Amino acid sequence: MKELVIISGKGGTGKTCVSASFAKLCNDRKILVDADVDAANLHLIIEPSDSEESSFTSGVKALINKDKCIECGLCIERCEFDAISDDFVVNEIDCEGCGVCHEFCPEKAIDLIPEESGKWFVSKTDSGTMIHAKLNIGGENSGLLINHLRKRAKQEAEAQNASYILIDGPPGTGCPATSSITGTDHVLIVTEPTKSGFHDMIKAKDLCDFLKIPVMIIVNKFDLNQDITDQIEDYANKSNALFMGRIPFDDDFPRAIMNKKAPVEYSSGKGADVLKSIYEKVIENINKH
Ligand code: SF4
Ligand code: SF4
Repeated sequence: MKELVIISGKGGTGKTCVSASFAKLCNDRKILVDADVDAANLHLIIEPSDSEESSFTSGVKALINKDKCIECGLCIERCEFDAISDDFVVNEIDCEGCGVCHEFCPEKAIDLIPEESGKWFVSKTDSGTMIHAKLNIGGENSGLLINHLRKRAKQEAEAQNASYILIDGPPGTGCPATSSITGTDHVLIVTEPTKSGFHDMIKAKDLCDFLKIPVMIIVNKFDLNQDITDQIEDYANKSNALFMGRIPFDDDFPRAIMNKKAPVEYSSGKGADVLKSIYEKVIENINKH
């Protein structure tokens, strides 16, 4: 079983278009993961059904049991975050869940309640099982949630004897991106030919190098700036990344998304054609290693 994570140094490069298209093009058994949990949108193109829903909890919040509390004030004194009011109520927003009040309360009147920060789903789609999630507003720990989704995807892939796990990763190079690629087999970086796109792609490549993950690179909308595209290809060749191709600007792509379709199923235009040949190259490369 091979795992491919599709990431981008920055948002808006067309990563999800590529992920959804690969999901449609892959005829082998596979598990799809939307690991862009802060802005999940793969489900808008690959529609899930029959979703099994579970809660994702991360961290705890203190809760004072008034029946047990003798109002000694020790918890207020010990809380470094000033999260407990003078009338012994914990402010959920200020509480950091450190557990100090729970430890010090002489009456064992403080419980630490697991906090739900989102939901995650195992869904059926016409491209196979999809594992995805929805963080609550202000929900934290997306890195932990991504880890969880990847583990669940692996279990599902083993159970179904799937050949691939295709992951639509988060943009950027922070904790969510790191969680989505740590220990994976292959990363595909989707970039665009702008200065910021190039700069952020280098940061993503550096992160992959640090984690010793082989990298493939593609440029979306390459014809918007051929010069920067050439520089990106040159950089890929010199930095031991595999340059897999250039996708031309194609206004069928946004139209496909508006129609809830992957570009390769919506259009037979130039962009979709190139995407198909890039997919073949990527899969061939993955299967070599
Ligand atoms: S430490 Fe325990 S008993 Fe004392 S005020 Fe806080 S909750 Fe009440
Ligand atoms: S868990 Fe920590 S932050 Fe929350 S109320 Fe208790 S001491 Fe304060």
